[in-house]
Amino acid sequence: MLERLRTDILILGSGGAGLFAALHAQQANPSLAITIASKGLLGKCGCTRMVQGGYNVALHPGDSIERHFMDTIEGGKWLPNQRMAWTLVSKAIERVRELENEVGCFFDRNPDGTLHGKAFAGQTFDRTVHKGDLTGIEIINRLMEQVWARPIQRLEEHRAVALIPSADGHSLAGALLIDVRSGAFRFMAAKAVLLATGGGPTMYRYHTPSADKSMDGLAMALRLGLPLRDMEMVQFHPTGLLAGPDTRMTGTVLEEGLRGAGGHLINGAGERFMQARDPRAERATRDFVSRCIYEEMRAGRTTPHGGVYLKMAHLGPKQVAKQFKGMVERCADCGSDLAGGLVEVVPTAHYHMGGVLCEVDTATELAGLFVAGEDAGGAHGANRLGGNGVANSTVFGGISGETMAAWLARNPGERAADEAVLRFELARAQHPFAQPRGDLNRLRERLLDAMWDDIGVIRDAVGLRRGLTNLETLERELLATGVVDGERAFNLAWHDWLNLRSLIEVSKAIASAALKRENSRGAHFREDFPDEGDLASSSFTVVRQQAGRLEVSARPVEFSIVKPGESLLMRAPCTH
Ligand SMILES: Cc1cc2nc3c(=O)[nH]c(=O)nc-3n(C[C@H](O)[C@H](O)[C@H](O)COP(=O)(O)OP(=O)(O)OC[C@H]3O[C@@H](n4cnc5c(N)ncnc54)[C@H](O)[C@@H]3O)c2cc1C
Repeated sequence: MLERLRTDILILGSGGAGLFAALHAQQANPSLAITIASKGLLGKCGCTRMVQGGYNVALHPGDSIERHFMDTIEGGKWLPNQRMAWTLVSKAIERVRELENEVGCFFDRNPDGTLHGKAFAGQTFDRTVHKGDLTGIEIINRLMEQVWARPIQRLEEHRAVALIPSADGHSLAGALLIDVRSGAFRFMAAKAVLLATGGGPTMYRYHTPSADKSMDGLAMALRLGLPLRDMEMVQFHPTGLLAGPDTRMTGTVLEEGLRGAGGHLINGAGERFMQARDPRAERATRDFVSRCIYEEMRAGRTTPHGGVYLKMAHLGPKQVAKQFKGMVERCADCGSDLAGGLVEVVPTAHYHMGGVLCEVDTATELAGLFVAGEDAGGAHGANRLGGNGVANSTVFGGISGETMAAWLARNPGERAADEAVLRFELARAQHPFAQPRGDLNRLRERLLDAMWDDIGVIRDAVGLRRGLTNLETLERELLATGVVDGERAFNLAWHDWLNLRSLIEVSKAIASAALKRENSRGAHFREDFPDEGDLASSSFTVVRQQAGRLEVSARPVEFSIVKPGESLLMRAPCTH
């Protein structure tokens, strides 16, 4: 049975991008029917809620948009789409004001009443605005209240499984959803759809994102034949909590501000190893610190669980407990003393810079489909600065709301769905019910290892090819593994199966792009090609699925604002 519903704007995902899109679309045209469909509960799911350290914004005297922009471009190793990066840093100011004055967030302040900016690694100014060390809860709770207060339809625990094109193939007609609570299928016809499912590299042995994220958005985009950029760029956060294999807390992130404040990393031999590798020591960028930790691990200089230690005690346990209350409590829950002792940490897959290729206004190459937040590629290039993630999702989420409202004014008609694709996707989502039951957890464990071992922090051609072969084997085995077709309401085995399918499909795209990039930039490090290559002729990778095969190409980066070797900081203030 397929229930059919319709709306003007369908937003997939209720993180910072999805909620801001809904608010801005509603503000732009209050008569629009807007529906948010989210895999989890509104305000309780996704990674925006998990934001710890804070939100980058150039508000403070001595800082500037140009400085924030240059940090973003240099941090992204000259691969970002510069127009997107400029929009990100300039609109962040407006968005933070909006968060405070219209949405109702309270951020921490200096004694003089200005917003406090904390230090984040890899940045030349302390510009990370925050609410203690659990900033995302403040942002998402207040956004959720604003959405509740408006006539915006909410389909909570509704998982999108496919984007359905129009019958003529020229545009998008809507999305196929599963109501997780009943197991029923719903086709939501929509004039505009926003993909804001938040990426989330949960296919690695150690990872930070929320459990509801399994790269569904990018898997759906791949199946539609849309181009994805920078897929090789998976950011590892250096300090994931290592609390042993028996807790889901392992992998969860201990925030960047700990290193920013002066935390030390110590290997299993008791040595502080970062000082010898970079003048910034522990405050070097995430990619570099992660690689250094990984090398310590490979050399066997590890802690009992196989990582390294994070030490904060030299900063004064009382001060650490006050400044990083949330982190200290998180560690205490797992039996570790962050304020006064040593905590075991490991690099953990945190963020995916890759995503759907789009315009600055969030339009994709398929009419009617828009993308924002972690599902969108381009703003970060090879590395996302800590604090630029939530800025990205809220800035571009808001822009997408305005863009969709304007697009609908020009394209008001409904588009009939391609019924053949809809039938195909219905069958595809039910594929596991026709297979003999098998051990999904074992497949998942093998996926985590395949990605961590061969397509992880340090890569080479041999490992990447082996990884791709392993992924193809896993995909075949998954397709031959079924789940019981009994009760479909809250059938978590079914959803685990669907999660694994998305993760494997996107993992293959990550590995293919990583094989194509024969240099080392930011988060992507090839041991067989350790040089960054010529910056002036930088290109980014584009992966597309055609007739079931992945094709990877390279496109030149447009240095539309600043060229390698130049800096906006040497020029008069910029007015882009
Ligand atoms: C632990 C942690 C700490 C972080 N700290 C910071 C920080 O300090 N500063 C910073 O800038 N960034 C931080 N980030 C990154 C930041 O959280 C993300 O960049 C940003 O929040 C992503 O927003 P989003 O709206 O794109 O996705 P999310 O907020 O992740 O929302 C995704 C939404 O999509 C839904 N969804 C997923 N799949 C489907 C589907 N198939 N159908 C329907 N809905 C679906 C999810 O349920 C969720 O509602 C952190 C991330 C983590 C994991």
